Amino acid sequence: MDLNALLQAFTPSWTSVVMLVVFFTYLAIAGSILPGRVVPGATLADGTRLHYRCNGLLSLLLLVCLLGISGWMNLVSPTAIADRGLELLSTTLIFSALVTFLLYMAGCRSRDQSSSLKPHISGNLIHDWWFGIQLNPQFIGIDLKFYFVRAGMMGWLLINLSVLAKCILETNLSRSMILYQLFCVLYILDYFFYEEYMTSTWDIIAERLGFMLVFGDLVWIPFTFSIQGWWLLNNEVQLTTAAIIANCLVFLIGYLVFRGANKQKHVFKKNPKALIWGRPPKVIGGKLLASGYWGIARHSNYLGDLLLALSFSLPCGISSPVPYFYPIYLFILLIWRERRDEARCAQKYKEIWAEYKKEVPWRILPYVY
Ligand code: NDP
Repeated sequence: MDLNALLQAFTPSWTSVVMLVVFFTYLAIAGSILPGRVVPGATLADGTRLHYRCNGLLSLLLLVCLLGISGWMNLVSPTAIADRGLELLSTTLIFSALVTFLLYMAGCRSRDQSSSLKPHISGNLIHDWWFGIQLNPQFIGIDLKFYFVRAGMMGWLLINLSVLAKCILETNLSRSMILYQLFCVLYILDYFFYEEYMTSTWDIIAERLGFMLVFGDLVWIPFTFSIQGWWLLNNEVQLTTAAIIANCLVFLIGYLVFRGANKQKHVFKKNPKALIWGRPPKVIGGKLLASGYWGIARHSNYLGDLLLALSFSLPCGISSPVPYFYPIYLFILLIWRERRDEARCAQKYKEIWAEYKKEVPWRILPYVY
């Protein structure tokens, strides 16, 4: 592709704007009216708690059905997203920059002193725009942080499904593509099945809503996590049966560790006496879980996620580093995040954290790191 063609592919069209507007409008309406469990979030510094309606799975399934029916009736093309990948990327990027600028301006004007809405202004515009100045800004009653992460995860699936449609209609459906698609579908459905677990994650409880988070949710997640699918559209990989079995095992082990660890922590926070692997939990200072996965490493959930990320790329073989972008990025992100979380926990839990570190010396991978 020459430079002109590349620039043209990146130039937002009205079609891509309309596609985004329809997607965001659907999410706002579906998120507000579809039934779902209402889950209390973490207790904030001022003692308040937000409540999240976890209807992401229903919203997603309904959206996929509606798109499927529209495709079958020839109202929309199943390859519409895959055909406009680059322009959708640039449109979403511009949208992220605009929306976070508006968030910055609205935050600056806020006089609200609650933990969710109190503006934290450093005076450095770039810093404040990048990291955000409010913890939980809302728009027409919608919690924007929860909304954007949901949009990103659903966007990833929609891109993948459109790439799959393009593959079926225009090339040959390979075993590699089937594996990659299957793993991602399972991961995303599982994410929405356990959507309430999101309410206790670092992003939701600790990060302010600025460009970094919005870009991460809306651009980074859907457009870079799907690189393997795009790559497989243009590259053929022959996988042996042994390679497929090994790939499935990496996915399965990664899933068990990832989901198991996150679930144990979530259950523990709700009921510190709940059994872990059939036994009463070991608890440090009445607050920190040191049993199950949390007794093996202080962040074994990160290990599970890294194995899952690797399993998404293994279907692409080892001929190119391009499909390994996601696991490499995640490795760097989680190593950095673990350090930041460690510092936060050390400050919050003080001597209890020091005791936990003595009890569980490994950060992510036992006997290695
Ligand atoms: P965690 O879910 O691990 O949450 C960390 C928090 O849990 C700590 O700040 C502390 O908060 C609490 N905590 C830590 N240790 C203990 C313990 N032993 N007992 C009780 N509570 C404890 O971190 P993240 O939010 O970063 O990650 C959540 C999931 O999201 C992970 O599986 C991660 O892999 C995944 N993720 C995926 C990304 C991707 O791009 N694919 C990006 C980032 C995360 P508190 O103050 O509440 O006690």
